[in-house]
Amino acid sequence: MTSREDSCNRGIAFHFHHDTLAESCSDYNGRVEDIKQFKPKAEQSLRLRVFRLIPDDRLPSKLKTAYEIYDQAEKAYIRTWEIYDKAWEVYNKTEETYIRAREAYNKTEKAYNRAEKAYNKAREACDKAREARDKAEKTHDQAEKVHLRVLEAYMPQLEHLHKELCPDCPWNGQTIFTRQNNAGQWY
Ligand SMILES: [Zn+2]
Repeated sequence: MTSREDSCNRGIAFHFHHDTLAESCSDYNGRVEDIKQFKPKAEQSLRLRVFRLIPDDRLPSKLKTAYEIYDQAEKAYIRTWEIYDKAWEVYNKTEETYIRAREAYNKTEKAYNRAEKAYNKAREACDKAREARDKAEKTHDQAEKVHLRVLEAYMPQLEHLHKELCPDCPWNGQTIFTRQNNAGQWY
């Protein structure tokens, strides 16, 4: 529906252009200003005299309805342009921020990749060292058991050897602290 204010300035006009009988006009006053400002002086009075909006109530009703539908669609279309322009502005701003963030991200990604490589290398080295340690531990434990068994087996021989190599020894089979002089010294 066209409002009263609109109907004075938009509608279907005769001779919007000099070579057209009738066409839609969305800004009658604006077109009048254009004619006064830009058209040759010799054309102006004729153009202004014949350029006129057709009164609503004189339009054939089918044409009037078709024009009103078109007019509403055009207004809706203009509103979508306005929304698009605003959205584009926001998009443009976020694009700058996005590009800066991506640069920062790429830098940190490189640092991250370097750190990841170093971490993986160190972990491999640590795993190898742990394997070697565990292997050495088994070897050690086995050798220790064998050593203790052999030591135990040779104890009688060692006792004989002790009598020979450790003269005047206070060892009683349990401890070396078995003799004490008057001064309290163990000997
Ligand atoms: Zn001894």
